[in-house]
Amino acid sequence: MIIIKNLCKSFNGTAAVKDVSLTVETNEVIAIVGPSGGGKSTFLRCLNHMEEPDSGTIEIDGELVIKNNISRARKNMGMVFQHFNLFPHMTVIENIIYAPMKVLGMNKMDALRRAKNLLDKVHMQKHEKAYPANLSGGQKQRVAIVRALAMRPKIMLFDEPTSSLDPEMVKEVLEVIKSLAHTGITIFIVTHLMSFAEEIADRVVFFANGKIVEVAPPKKFFHNPKTMRAKEFLDKVS
Ligand code: ADP
Repeated sequence: MIIIKNLCKSFNGTAAVKDVSLTVETNEVIAIVGPSGGGKSTFLRCLNHMEEPDSGTIEIDGELVIKNNISRARKNMGMVFQHFNLFPHMTVIENIIYAPMKVLGMNKMDALRRAKNLLDKVHMQKHEKAYPANLSGGQKQRVAIVRALAMRPKIMLFDEPTSSLDPEMVKEVLEVIKSLAHTGITIFIVTHLMSFAEEIADRVVFFANGKIVEVAPPKKFFHNPKTMRAKEFLDKVS
């Protein structure tokens, strides 16, 4: 279980996340939606201290995530960004085995076995010796997801994982994310794809002006939102 209490983050005196609290069950899929600049990405990045929160607490399975234990907490959290951030000088398989060997101390044979298994699941086994520059955006994003999964995270954080992809590559990445839902991993996904959010999420968290304005199951949020702000947003995006 993840308990976020009173999280605040400002940049140069301007609040990006304002006193946000949310409790998320293990295995839950949380879709974070809302207008651009509303604080979705900052909130997500605060969860693994990629942005250091100014105040508030994050507790994962009874343990507070603080500066002193951040590397331990990060082992449990995989993050996938809009841009793929693969190491350009490493092949696909080298990208995937790097952290399990370096951070988890896995031996190469075990790391390779795990990597190949995961690549197989996202239909990328043929590309294990390719360099990122020779892959399509959708292929790179699937490798980025596998690289995060190779650490066996408890939590996956996805920050607009399809927004820099050509439309025909979006589906293949969404399929991979969908296949992870309810497999024991808790998922937070910031997305502007409302139909995907509706399909995958257990709960939708609507962010605007740095605050959570509404939290609801997807059917309720998309078809019967209770706040004016959410109604306005949904009118614009639909
Ligand atoms: P969203 O993900 O909903 O589009 P963000 O979390 O990216 O929103 O941004 C929330 C606010 O914080 C915006 O006003 C944005 O300009 C500001 N912000 C985000 N990251 C930074 C940063 N590193 N430095 C300064 N301002 C930032």
